[in-house]
Amino acid sequence: MTARILDGIKIRDQIFEELKDEVRVLTSAGIRPGLAAVLTGDNPASQLYVKSKIAACEQLGIASALITPAADTTTLDMLRVVDDLNRDNEIDGILVQLPLPPQVDTKRVLEAVDPAKDVDGFHPVNLGRLVSGRPGLVACTPAGCMEILRRNAISIEGANAVVLGRSDIVGKPMALLLMHANATVTICHSKTRDLPEVLRRANIIVAAMGKAGYVEADWIRPGASVIDVGTNKVTDPKEAEGLLRDFPERLEKFRAKGSVLVGDVHPDAIHIAGALTPVPGGVGPMTITMLMSNTVKAASLRRAGGRPLASQSSASAR
Ligand code: NAP
Repeated sequence: MTARILDGIKIRDQIFEELKDEVRVLTSAGIRPGLAAVLTGDNPASQLYVKSKIAACEQLGIASALITPAADTTTLDMLRVVDDLNRDNEIDGILVQLPLPPQVDTKRVLEAVDPAKDVDGFHPVNLGRLVSGRPGLVACTPAGCMEILRRNAISIEGANAVVLGRSDIVGKPMALLLMHANATVTICHSKTRDLPEVLRRANIIVAAMGKAGYVEADWIRPGASVIDVGTNKVTDPKEAEGLLRDFPERLEKFRAKGSVLVGDVHPDAIHIAGALTPVPGGVGPMTITMLMSNTVKAASLRRAGGRPLASQSSASAR
């Protein structure tokens, strides 16, 4: 058996087409959605992430603004930046790229963002709305996982779903989304006993732990749907050989490049699972996609009174 591949790039392209229509309709009504990215200091990874987020805005016709406080910025300076963006009516989404420099109080800055513009879905008000099942802005990676499940018609209602990981940005919101979709949800973490046994009961597994290939293929119930959030760069040749022994082409690429991206689920799971997100190309592309979707949704809610637009996509209508 070979798992059906749940292609995140294909879903990103579908949602981008839907979002382009929504942006066109909003813009013609005088409401051009706008995203502000706050990029502090000179962390190369953060610079790369922000660059790709701005490129996505450009692709969709969303206005973007880049604010670049210096690495020695203070909490008060950052609060002022956020306050200015909160007041700017043309800005619908505020993205504070993490990590912030150590002298800045990250929680205070994130909590200063207007919840209506909190397109990362990190604000306690939006988390509270998620807990109580009320509409709000939902964290992008788990929202993207739900889109992958829904757009591949994977049945969630009544399913046993196991979420591996309980972080604020992935595991916890993921578990809540699955619960609201009527799955029976188990959340596992580093203290969970007998993980293989828990996993063998799962119809849906969402792995977000940050450990390359940790979930062995024989822990997976045959036919289960597996969403692999993990993005782990493997550079050790022995580890790569252990993970990719049945995938000579990937191993060849590893040897040429010196590194390979592997999820939290062992690649051999492809022979057991019914459906599986690849790494890369599964959950990864969905995170920026849902950031764009949240920005359009925020613009529609803030400035168009949340009126349903004729062409509104199911992603942003969540
Ligand atoms: P995190 O904050 O480090 O959380 C990891 C979670 O995994 C923790 O809850 C931890 O449990 C749990 N865990 C660790 N070892 C475990 C074990 N042996 N058994 C069961 N649970 C275990 O990580 P995160 O931010 O949620 O990210 C998780 C992964 O997703 C990372 O690989 C990250 O790179 C990736 N990610 C990808 C995207 C994307 O766009 N594709 C976006 C976000 C994150 P404790 O709570 O007990 O410590």
